[in-house]
Amino acid sequence: MSATSYGPSYVRALAPYIAGKPIAEVAREFGLDEARIVKLASNENPLGMPPSAQAALQRAVSDLGRYPDANGFDLKSALAARYGVSEDWITLGNGSNDILEMAAHAFVERDQSIVFAQYSFAVYALATQGVGARAIVVPAKRYGHDLDAMLAAIEPDTRLVFVANPNNPTGTFIPGEQIEAFLKQVPQHVVVVLDEAYTEYLAADQRYDSIEWTRRYPNLMVSRTFSKAYGLAGLRVGFAIAQPPLTDLVNRLRQPFNVNSLAQTAAVAALADIEFLTRSAELNTAGYKALTAAFDALGLEYVPSHGNFVLVRVGDEDGAGARVNLGLLKEGVIVRPVGNYGLPQWLRVTIGLPAENEVFVAALRRVLGRA
Ligand SMILES: *Cc1c(COP(=O)(O)O)cnc(C)c1O
Repeated sequence: MSATSYGPSYVRALAPYIAGKPIAEVAREFGLDEARIVKLASNENPLGMPPSAQAALQRAVSDLGRYPDANGFDLKSALAARYGVSEDWITLGNGSNDILEMAAHAFVERDQSIVFAQYSFAVYALATQGVGARAIVVPAKRYGHDLDAMLAAIEPDTRLVFVANPNNPTGTFIPGEQIEAFLKQVPQHVVVVLDEAYTEYLAADQRYDSIEWTRRYPNLMVSRTFSKAYGLAGLRVGFAIAQPPLTDLVNRLRQPFNVNSLAQTAAVAALADIEFLTRSAELNTAGYKALTAAFDALGLEYVPSHGNFVLVRVGDEDGAGARVNLGLLKEGVIVRPVGNYGLPQWLRVTIGLPAENEVFVAALRRVLGRA
């Protein structure tokens, strides 16, 4: 009997995305009490969903018998007002992951190429392979994007470049001037998706106006999410801003009801909740100081981070990340091993509440035999 293989070879060759382990699964696997498990694995906001969004959800629940607004009128209006663009510049996504996938489908044909950086967000490779395109992976410079090398790597068949700023899982940041210098040189027929999932965590002196750039660069699409600082990861909502020709193309591929009603309602409330964002960013800054001080005390190398997570090197041998990760799981602490990113000596830890950070550091000390 010969084995039948279904689907295109590039789909069969896909390695599925590895998500952070759910709390319930770790509790079952290691015989632990769910309530005592600390999850710092998926860069979620440790404050959870903003109360303003929770209240909006309560009001919206009674209307769930109806389809969502396919055009996301209220959310697009709120985003348009916030960013000073008109609604036909905005695409809503089922998380910004959806935006990244749609961009690959909308802008790239099979066997054309997509450029992105080594150690950049795993979804870029998945989206590339999912359309049967060729990935041009550009070696990182000190764990971050090397924009000069990325520019030089663009080939005649390249149609899309993914740039994450700050990047996940490394937390590296590219100053605005450098990104703009890059945009000036990218050929017009190549779309640049600037993925700013963590932009709300940037310090005031690091901020730059990428929305303004979308007016000047017709090939730029800026992608943002409500999953991280806005605290709505479970609802799945993100958005992109770009000029109408790009937006229109993506919109043709978009599933009509890709963002559900609860997500739209909660996002409108969260967008208006500046106080929650400020509190989240402050908590993150304090947590970053606490975690990196602990790493310094332990003599562990880490990559300076501009997001809500830190990449830390937990040992010298190739299995160090997996070994320490297993030790932490047994202690009831879930972080993210990054061997699949080619970083087998490192772990990525999300910055949590002060008490969660302390539990993590204490567990790390025990696992490293440094308690
Ligand atoms: C988390 C993340 C996203 C997407 O998250 P969604 O929940 O799909 O919005 C996109 N890009 C980067 C770099 C991320 O870390």
